[in-house]
Amino acid sequence: MAAMLELNDIHVFYGAIHAIQGISLTVREGEIVSLIGANGAGKSTTLNTICGLIRPKNGSITFMGNDITHLSPPDIVKLGISQVPEGRRIFTNMTVLENLELGAYKRTDKDGIRQDIEDVYRRFPRLKERQRQIAGTLSGGEQQMLAIGRALMARPRLLLMDEPSMGLAPILVKEIFEIIKEINNGGTTILLVEQNARMALSIANRAYVLETGHIALEGPANELADNPQVQKAYLGG
Ligand code: ATP
Repeated sequence: MAAMLELNDIHVFYGAIHAIQGISLTVREGEIVSLIGANGAGKSTTLNTICGLIRPKNGSITFMGNDITHLSPPDIVKLGISQVPEGRRIFTNMTVLENLELGAYKRTDKDGIRQDIEDVYRRFPRLKERQRQIAGTLSGGEQQMLAIGRALMARPRLLLMDEPSMGLAPILVKEIFEIIKEINNGGTTILLVEQNARMALSIANRAYVLETGHIALEGPANELADNPQVQKAYLGG
């Protein structure tokens, strides 16, 4: 499989803090790749760097043959990367429908947009029932569905997901992971950041373990799940 996304020796600083210390990783077309690691390991920083919200000091990022290291976030969205941000960050004072429409703000194909809204509603019937509801009044799980739906409205080839299970009841976590699998089966490649290492490894083809700004381990997700070191540190023994 061809490499879709490649990070090559990325370094990120917050002032004097060297948050990302030379990360190289690859996501191939069609994969689900998980990035796991403790709090503060640099998972969100990595995703935010890929989508252009944070500038790396060194290193390069290539997406489908384009060097995107210095592109603006909207241009990166246009090339086919969209993010479901940590904590959802939907527009809380707008309706469900308006949030979805904003997800397509870079597109001009009105018919395609309408069709994709219907696709999101098919995937998330609860959003259809609530399309005129103010998004801030949705439950946590519904807000996560809306955040995913909004990201899909950009028709991404690569979807970056930051802690989609955060704050959700176990039954909803299962549901969200099923949805992630379905989205992937539909042809969208996924880079997933998760604290829930067990779920993240169960769903992924490959995974990377991040420790204080560098990659400590990488490999097929099933092999990492069987690795005693990973079990001890991330899977509760
Ligand atoms: P979590 O699972 O807790 O979300 P994470 O793995 O996503 O953690 P990051 O949020 O990427 O980790 O943070 C990596 C490091 O960079 C941490 O030490 C964090 O304190 C630091 N950091 C993140 N954002 C900033 C910022 N805006 N200014 C200064 N330091 C930051």
